[in-house]
Amino acid sequence: MPSVDVVVVGAGPSGCSVAKFASEKGLEVLVLEKKREAGVPSPCAGYVSKLVSRYFNVDKRCRQQDIENMLTVFPSGRSQVVRAEGWIVERMLFDRFLAMQAARAGARFSMHSKVVGIGRDGAGKNGADSDAGREAREVVYRKDGESIRIKARVIVGADGVLSGVARLAGIQTNGQIAVCPQYEMVGVKLDDPTTVETYFDVDYAPGSYAWVYPTGRDSAKVGLGIAKPLAGQKPGTFLNKFISRHPVARKRFVDATPISSIVGMLPINGLLEKICVGNVLLVGDAAGMADPISGAGICTGIIAGKIAAEEIYKGLENSDYEGYERRVRKLLGPRLERSLKKREIADGSYRSNETLEEVLPRTWITFKGFWRD
Ligand SMILES: Cc1cc2nc3c(=O)[nH]c(=O)nc-3n(C[C@H](O)[C@H](O)[C@H](O)COP(=O)(O)OP(=O)(O)OC[C@H]3O[C@@H](n4cnc5c(N)ncnc54)[C@H](O)[C@@H]3O)c2cc1C
Repeated sequence: MPSVDVVVVGAGPSGCSVAKFASEKGLEVLVLEKKREAGVPSPCAGYVSKLVSRYFNVDKRCRQQDIENMLTVFPSGRSQVVRAEGWIVERMLFDRFLAMQAARAGARFSMHSKVVGIGRDGAGKNGADSDAGREAREVVYRKDGESIRIKARVIVGADGVLSGVARLAGIQTNGQIAVCPQYEMVGVKLDDPTTVETYFDVDYAPGSYAWVYPTGRDSAKVGLGIAKPLAGQKPGTFLNKFISRHPVARKRFVDATPISSIVGMLPINGLLEKICVGNVLLVGDAAGMADPISGAGICTGIIAGKIAAEEIYKGLENSDYEGYERRVRKLLGPRLERSLKKREIADGSYRSNETLEEVLPRTWITFKGFWRD
């Protein structure tokens, strides 16, 4: 049976980050991705802070728009603008460039390869295995109708919000999930393409917010998040209503038409209780690293991916990867916990626009009050 140091499941930003940095350390890495191409399709608005360029070269060809500011619109229509330097990236191209950088660092990719089992050395099997987390060394995946087995010293689940690796390793997922419909629209009347816009209103985005993220002079990704238990209607219905009726935003869309329509999901409950069990590590959305308030998960997944690579490298000698759990909890834990706490406050305030208006300066990331307590 072939063997490698690290099998990474999922070629999204988190998986590519682990793959790149582990390969740079000289480890033999195989990335298994169930899709035929990296980044297809990727439900995402694609806002990334410029911080990401400390980890990857963000190729000009995947940057759709330079961003300088973020506008927040309250339910009453009043608004606030803050500095927020970043880019809107085209996720398909962005992910592809990350995969290219990981591949150039030495990682191997196997596309159209769906992981279906992890198990103990020589005992790989489909389905959950309570010992798999402790002793997993074999990965089983399906490719072109065949079942293939490979041995790995470490398995990284970077397989997104409904992580199969977490389930196979017996890791408890705590899963509150937001459902996010999004269009890319053309013909959008933007005041300033370098400003991303966020809209809060219980009638349009219950439990979350709506966004208009410019992808050019007259085009934007327009979407919103619905925290599942708060919503009785289909997510797309909320988005159509936002576009046609929101008192401030609707003027942007009078002559606009969607050229793409997607629905994605996001973990909004913060870090899982365990993100490392034996030699199985979870990274990115699989580990609950998307911010429970903003939904942003690209940067945290990439940062955690680098930490995973470093701790895998260190841990291989005595098969101890707990350093990953400790470092990630120290670095990302407080921020994610704060956001979770704020989301719980915000959830309670989605009863009416009056209460939402009042709590927003404490519960949304662009306000000082968010960071104060
Ligand atoms: C509508 C929407 C808008 C968003 N906007 C933003 C934004 O503007 N900025 C931001 O920072 N974040 C945003 N996010 C969140 C962001 O998309 C995620 O946090 C990010 O994609 C997480 O990266 P990841 O690599 O952990 O997981 P993913 O990008 O989900 O990648 C997981 C990969 O694993 C693969 N996979 C899954 N199961 C298997 C398997 N069994 N075998 C093999 N491969 C498998 C999948 O095919 C996928 O390629 C948004 C999310 C949504 C839904």
